[in-house]
Amino acid sequence: NDQSEVLRRKLEIHVKGDVVPGPILSFSSCSRLPQRLIQNIEAAGYDMPTPVQMQAIPAALSGKNLLVSADTGSGKTASFLVPVISRCANFRLQHLPNEKKKPLAMVLTPTRELCIQVEDQAKLLGKGLPFKTALVVGGDAMAGQIYRIQQGVELIVGTPGRLIDLLTKHDVELDDTMIFVLDEVDCMLQRGFRDQVMQIFRALPQPQILMYSATISPEVEKMTSSMVKDIVHVSVGKLNK
Ligand code: ADP
Ligand code: MG
Repeated sequence: NDQSEVLRRKLEIHVKGDVVPGPILSFSSCSRLPQRLIQNIEAAGYDMPTPVQMQAIPAALSGKNLLVSADTGSGKTASFLVPVISRCANFRLQHLPNEKKKPLAMVLTPTRELCIQVEDQAKLLGKGLPFKTALVVGGDAMAGQIYRIQQGVELIVGTPGRLIDLLTKHDVELDDTMIFVLDEVDCMLQRGFRDQVMQIFRALPQPQILMYSATISPEVEKMTSSMVKDIVHVSVGKLNK
């Protein structure tokens, strides 16, 4: 509607593709978020969503595949973790507690350090909710990582190489994995990572896909549209910078 358009123009939020819900002005006004998640966001000191969060959170919650570009430091991590945690926690709350807990979401990043940062933030925002995480990166024993997954987690955060290594050696049931996040997608779909990322993607049952980067090259943009159709593009900031 008009109000959303005015807001987008003011915040330099550009949306291309299907119709998506307008930007949210506060976390608490986002009706689908569990109350405990909103409390955790406030406890983390996030008084207001950043522009990318205002638009990407409701768009992701509406189930769209997203390709999002926004500057470094603009809060992209929470802009995918909030909808991921919300969808995972709501899924668990709607299912019987005795059902086997298979991973519901997966976040891939290019480095161990980034994975650790993402997992730390996920743990902080997911506190008190049915939301456990597993880190799958090199440098730590794989035995502990697979044990944790088998005990039941909602989110796996990992690097592509280590994750393929783990999936090749162990049986991980991925048929409930409904969200696939590529952080730093510009890097993740470059030669070198691309084949590994695609191999993991093909092991998932048609998940919603959320992709984030500070910049997105035309080549990577083309790659993403060959992976999935109906991608909504969200970019924040001046166009054509
Ligand atoms: P990006 O991935 O876009 O480079 P990050 O997600 O790492 O940025 O966020 C940068 C910093 O901003 C982090 O320290 C994060 O905790 C903080 N942050 C994220 N969202 C908010 C918010 N809504 N309010 C205040 N700080 C925030
Ligand atoms: Mg980031």
